[in-house]
Amino acid sequence: MTLLPSPKKIASFHPPLRTLMGPGPSEMHPRTIAALGQPVIGYLDPIFVGMMEELKDLLRYTYQTKNPLTFPVSGPGSVGMETCFVNLVERGDKVIVCRNGVFGGRMIENVERAGGVCVVVEDTWGEPVDPQKLADALKAHPDTKIVAFVHAETSTGAQSDAKTLIALAKQAGALSIVDAVTSLGGTPVLTDEWGADAIYSASQKCLSCTPGLSPVSFSEAAIARVKARKSKVQSWFMDLNLVMAYWGETQRTYHHTAPGNSLYALHEALLLLREEGLEHAWARHQRHHLAIKAGLEAMGLKFVVREGARLPQMNAVHVPEGIAEAEVRKRLLAEFNLEIGAGLGPLAGKIWRFGLMGYSCKAENVMLSLSALGSVLSDMGCAVEVGQAEAAAHQAYAAQHAAAAKAKAGKKPA
Ligand SMILES: *Cc1c(COP(=O)(O)O)cnc(C)c1O
Repeated sequence: MTLLPSPKKIASFHPPLRTLMGPGPSEMHPRTIAALGQPVIGYLDPIFVGMMEELKDLLRYTYQTKNPLTFPVSGPGSVGMETCFVNLVERGDKVIVCRNGVFGGRMIENVERAGGVCVVVEDTWGEPVDPQKLADALKAHPDTKIVAFVHAETSTGAQSDAKTLIALAKQAGALSIVDAVTSLGGTPVLTDEWGADAIYSASQKCLSCTPGLSPVSFSEAAIARVKARKSKVQSWFMDLNLVMAYWGETQRTYHHTAPGNSLYALHEALLLLREEGLEHAWARHQRHHLAIKAGLEAMGLKFVVREGARLPQMNAVHVPEGIAEAEVRKRLLAEFNLEIGAGLGPLAGKIWRFGLMGYSCKAENVMLSLSALGSVLSDMGCAVEVGQAEAAAHQAYAAQHAAAAKAKAGKKPA
């Protein structure tokens, strides 16, 4: 027996410390990082099972739902997406997908691969989904079984009106599949109030956890649809009927080996969110969004999405004329350890995306991003005055502090 030579020159891997201001992953809180390094225990250990139950409760709080079937799928957001489609779509089912960016396109792929008949409602990238177009499509296709859309389109930073879109689906007797990957934890996601039937997210965006988990939640109507299927779910791994034997209320049998340490981390990340309070987390995303917006605009940068439809946690701006887009990102990473996002699809090379997600959403990251970008842009010959953006961000913070102080004073008895 001759063994192949062993790989040489490999030492332990130690990543640099980066400031993550892209479209995810976001930074992790030290408590969440620490949770990852705890001992491995068995996936049927009663202590582990107790943690799983708490995790489901924390997820129900985060999703604002009472849905019993709320749990983290073992896999990234894309697996959560696919879990919704493979379970709810049967061969020949008509599905309306509203597409206004990259992730709507992936939904179309999912429908087609699950054997569904896809009707695409197109909107311009950077615009929210137009409810009127969905209403028209539902009228033209009264046999629609499912309506799917992305609540927070990470590729452009546009937020759609989930409540209205879900209500339209309901009126037409269709179920809804909602992508809340970038919205969960960053902006209101009100699963029960909206009446969403299937909703999925990811651990590494506004939840600030390690990548690789996808929290999902299903309504009673969605579960009834899965149970009434004429054919088996084509994916064994994602078949909810089988997964429930592990994550369900009553049974607890082996389905697959749960990624235990990642689940400890999600438990801690959601606990941090509960300690902060959902409303406070949403307000924090808005506060830092206003600051980074003021700074970016002070440098003359223009937002891709119009005011009123912008996601606070995803700030997409046009690259100034004549600036080498990728070169800027390369220098931000090399010189400032700062990661920001590039454009995808038709927006590649044309925009930058500044994420403000979860633990990455804080004043020091806003200030570093603005000063690093100002430094690199002015160095590359762009007409920006270094320091201008930070001053504008400071003013945005100061204005908010003043408003908060005034509101507080107004509440005090005279
Ligand atoms: C990131 C993202 C996904 C995919 O999540 P992964 O964890 O990368 O698989 C899906 N939808 C939206 C809107 C996203 O931003």
